[in-house]
Amino acid sequence: MLVTREFAFDAVHFLPSYRGSPEAPHGHRWRIEVTVEAPVGPEGMAFDFAELGEVVRRRVVERFEGRSMNEVVPVPSAENVALFAWKALRHLPLRQVRVWESEGCSAICREEDVKGGRS
Ligand SMILES: [Zn+2]
Repeated sequence: MLVTREFAFDAVHFLPSYRGSPEAPHGHRWRIEVTVEAPVGPEGMAFDFAELGEVVRRRVVERFEGRSMNEVVPVPSAENVALFAWKALRHLPLRQVRVWESEGCSAICREEDVKGGRS
């Protein structure tokens, strides 16, 4: 079964080359949604929401929250932030990582986006 947990944090970013020139640094209320897949166990859970929350906060959210994301991901587009999160969480049974840069604007990272040298 698929289990999803969603997080939100504020952070500043800029794209070093957007339509040929650097963007001005600006903030977003970012959202990240992490989906894992596992069988439902005898306790009735496929994956413990609390455990998922701890690991995503520690490995992803706390890296970015209240900071300049460019210090962590040099080109922090929603796409690259999703790739970063996937790699930081790859020990989990991940199925999808989705990152919203703003309302209505998101990038989805799946396994095929990470394998084969495309990352
Ligand atoms: Zn932006």
